[in-house]
Formats: sequence, C-alpha cells, structure tokens
Amino acid sequence: MMKFIKRSFSMSWCRGRHMPQKINCRECGEVLYEGDLLKSPQDVIKKFEGVCPKCKKELSFMTNAVKVQPFESK
Ligand SMILES: [Zn+2]
Repeated sequence: MMKFIKRSFSMSWCRGRHMPQKINCRECGEVLYEGDLLKSPQDVIKKFEGVCPKCKKELSFMTNAVKVQPFESK
C-alpha cells in the first residue's frame, strides 16, 4: 500500500515537469544517465554501485560528484 502511494506520487511529479535529463560524472564527464524520465542521482549512483564506470571515481550525490542538467532533445 505504502509502495503504491509512493509510486503514483512520483509519476505525477514526472508528468508535471517533463524534461529530458542528463547526469554526468563530474570527474570525467561520462554520461551516467540520459533520458526523458526524471531519475534521482541517488538511483543512478546506486545503479553503478557508487563508482563511475569510466574513471572509477567514487560517485556521491552529497559531494556533488555528479551534475544533473536538462538538455534539449533534437
Ligand atoms: Zn567518471
């Protein structure tokens, strides 16, 4: 029940601010995530197990190891 509420909340939040999103490694600029879905940097960091796949630097959202920016899709 709790899970369902959480999910529907985040889905409506996505619809409200639909914008392509890009998450880069601050160290080497490697694109860690790119797409229409809003992802939290924490999710992306978790996906890569906390380490940049390219430069092997430790990723941490708290220390701004990644940057999140909107981008124009062509
Ligand atoms: Zn990197």
